[in-house]
Amino acid sequence: MLRGLLTSAMGEREVVKVKRRVSRNVRDQAFEGTPSGPRRFGWKPADPKAGRKVNEKLEPEEAKVLREAVELALKGKHWATIVKHLDDSGYLTVRGNKWSTTPVQYMLTNPALCGYRMINGELVHDRKTGKPVIGKWETVCTPEEWRRLVARCNVWFNPEGDTASTRYREKVKREGRKDYRGIAEATRRFLLTNIARCGYVKDDGTMCLAKMKGMGPTGTNKQDRYRCGDPRCNKVSRRADLMDDAIKRMVIKVLEEQYSELVPQERSWYGEETLNALLAKQQEIKDAYKAGEIGLSEYLEFKDDNDAQVAASQKDRDDFYAEQAAKNFLAGFSAERWEKEFDMRQRRTAIAIVLQAVIVHPLPQGRSRSSRFDVDLLEPVPRKRY
Ligand SMILES: [Zn+2]
Repeated sequence: MLRGLLTSAMGEREVVKVKRRVSRNVRDQAFEGTPSGPRRFGWKPADPKAGRKVNEKLEPEEAKVLREAVELALKGKHWATIVKHLDDSGYLTVRGNKWSTTPVQYMLTNPALCGYRMINGELVHDRKTGKPVIGKWETVCTPEEWRRLVARCNVWFNPEGDTASTRYREKVKREGRKDYRGIAEATRRFLLTNIARCGYVKDDGTMCLAKMKGMGPTGTNKQDRYRCGDPRCNKVSRRADLMDDAIKRMVIKVLEEQYSELVPQERSWYGEETLNALLAKQQEIKDAYKAGEIGLSEYLEFKDDNDAQVAASQKDRDDFYAEQAAKNFLAGFSAERWEKEFDMRQRRTAIAIVLQAVIVHPLPQGRSRSSRFDVDLLEPVPRKRY
């Protein structure tokens, strides 16, 4: 029986070894920057006769579609717009499936797009220079563009800054989900949900301020409406098309004044060298500890300090690209762009940059529900900086 246990234990150890060998192999390849893995959309499959590795050369037709998708994402287009673009290209995913939001988000944040490699969620850095390893394959975007794509997935041009996305990430973590990029982007057809708020004055003299919900025609109402979302109040409602139009005009005017002269910036983050040096140092000390050149206490002392600096540095970089992306999104704004280029998501984002809320005041007493739409009953609440 003992022998049996021994041999089975040995068998397991062998399995572990093999696994390690496999993962080491992947790791080595990543450090060397050689193309590997399953074929990616946009690249050619392996061709041993021609000495071509998988994912080494671009497949021109697919790469063109992929590049277009990258550009749409960089412009801040709605994911649904990007998915539709891929659908319309006539191509399926490499697995032969129809396109959908989550895989497209994965595809467009894959570091391989710009030649970078990632293992366990971290970029592979050169041990000596600390710089990300650049793979030996053709790419479809620059590292800066890739950073912006990642920033978009993390921050969503969220005018409230990092807080919402951080909160979201924490929620995802709590729920044990791995993928915080797959943020559900509900197809919302109402322009002012989350912005319009109920202005009904309660008995205590304060306003209801509940968010108003968009709703389709009901009963005698033939048009879409916004209605107070608090079931205890539910007292204010207004025609959606007329409200959308009034707010749209106002926002376009403000944005034209603020952004029409602005030229988009494509600057690289100023701290790249510092971060690379920190990462190189990290590896150096780790190696020194492994080789027994320094003791554990020295190592720990350095490690905590270095980890904190690396984390602060990486956050700064992410913030930088997110902020740049948010500014570029509105650079050169015009009413024409709003009408022709902006989809629903971009319009909502643009509105949220200018406005904190729009209070919808109830009709004054005695005024008929069928009376003319009154813009004066809408009270825009600008964001602080406007
Ligand atoms: Zn209300």
